[in-house]
Amino acid sequence: MSIHAPAYVRAIAPYQAGKPTSELARQYGLNEAEIVKLASNENPLGMPESARRAVVAAMAEVGRYPDSNGFELKQALSRRMDVPQEWITLGNGSNDILELAAHSLLAPGESAVYAQHAFAVYALATQEVGARAIVVPARNYGHDLQAMLAAIEADTRLVFVANPNNPTGTFVEAPEVERFLERVPADTVVLYDEAYTEYLPPELRYDSVSWVRRFPNLIVSRTFSKAYGMAGLRIGYGIAQPELTDLMNRVRQPFNVNSLAQQAALAALGDSEFLERSYRLNRDGLQLLQSAFDRMGLEYVPSYANFVMVRVGDAAAVYERLLRAGVIVRPVGGYGLPEWLRVSVGLPSENEAFLKAFEGALAA
Ligand SMILES: *Cc1c(COP(=O)(O)O)cnc(C)c1O
Repeated sequence: MSIHAPAYVRAIAPYQAGKPTSELARQYGLNEAEIVKLASNENPLGMPESARRAVVAAMAEVGRYPDSNGFELKQALSRRMDVPQEWITLGNGSNDILELAAHSLLAPGESAVYAQHAFAVYALATQEVGARAIVVPARNYGHDLQAMLAAIEADTRLVFVANPNNPTGTFVEAPEVERFLERVPADTVVLYDEAYTEYLPPELRYDSVSWVRRFPNLIVSRTFSKAYGMAGLRIGYGIAQPELTDLMNRVRQPFNVNSLAQQAALAALGDSEFLERSYRLNRDGLQLLQSAFDRMGLEYVPSYANFVMVRVGDAAAVYERLLRAGVIVRPVGGYGLPEWLRVSVGLPSENEAFLKAFEGALAA
C-alpha cells in the first residue's frame, strides 16, 4: 500500500450495519414495501408526529448553520434533568458522544476497558485513537462489573458500560452500578451508555443524573435514536460535570448536530405520550417473541431493551433463509456470538411475520 496510515487504523474492522431494505429488495427481487426489518433496534412506530411537524417547520431554516450550542434543546434538557446547561453535550447520535469521550480522553497507547459482547462502537472509538483495548470476559452474556473494575490499569482512561447492553440485552441493576462507580479510580472516566434506558420496566428505573452529580468522572450518554424513534436524524447527548463537558467540547465539530434533529428532539422530549406508547408496544412485543422462543425450546437471553438475542445454531444459514423470506435480523458473529441472532421488536404484524418466517427457516 502506498498511502501512509497508522497501523491501528488499518487494523480496524469496519462497523457492520444492518442490511438496508432497498439492498435486500434488489438482491432477491423482493417488494421493498413487504420487507420486515428487525435489524437495527429502531422504533417501529417511527418518529413522533410532534417531531415530524417540528422538522417540517425547521426546514425553512436549513439554509443556515445549526445552533452550534444547541441552546433551546439544552435548555429543555437542563430543566427536565435539573442540571446546568454546561453539563450537557449534544452529539450527532450518541455514537458521537462515545467518540468525543475517546478523542478527548484517550491518547495512543493508553487503555480503555469494555466488556466482551459489548456495543461495537466501544472497540471502534478505542481503536481509532490508537488506544489499547482491555476486553473483559462477559458473565452470562452481560457486564461483569467486578471483573471490569479489577481490569482497570494505571493507564486506563475510559471504561465503557452499556446498560442495558447491545446486542445481548442484559441489564445490571442500579445498586450494583452504583457500587462500581464508587470504586472506579477518580482519574478513570466511566462512559455509561443508556441508549435503551427508556425501555426499562418502572421497577428497575433509577436516577443516573444523581450519579453524575456525585461522580466527576462519569459521563452518561442517551439517544433519541431508539425509544424516541429518530435514528435517521442522528441526535443524542451526554451529561457530565463541566470539566468533562469542556474537554469533549474541545474535540467536537462546531456544527455536529443538524438543525432538524435539534428541533425534532425538542418536540419529542415533551411527548411523554409517544414514549409511553413506545414502551408498551415494546414490552408486549418482547413478551410475544420470548414466549414464542420458549415454546420453540430455543435459548434466548432475557432482554431489557427493544431486541432479543436467540440461539439458533448455524446463525449464518438461518439469517440467509430469513433474508430470502424478506425478513432482516442481525447476525452477531462479529460480537463473538456465531450461534445467535439479534431480533429487534417490531410492530405486532412484523413480529408475527418474523415468527412465521423464523419457524420456516429453522425447519429448512
Ligand atoms: C443504538 C445504540 C447507541 C445509539 O446510537 P446513536 O448514535 O444514538 O444512534 C448507543 N449505544 C448503544 C449500546 C446502542 O445500541
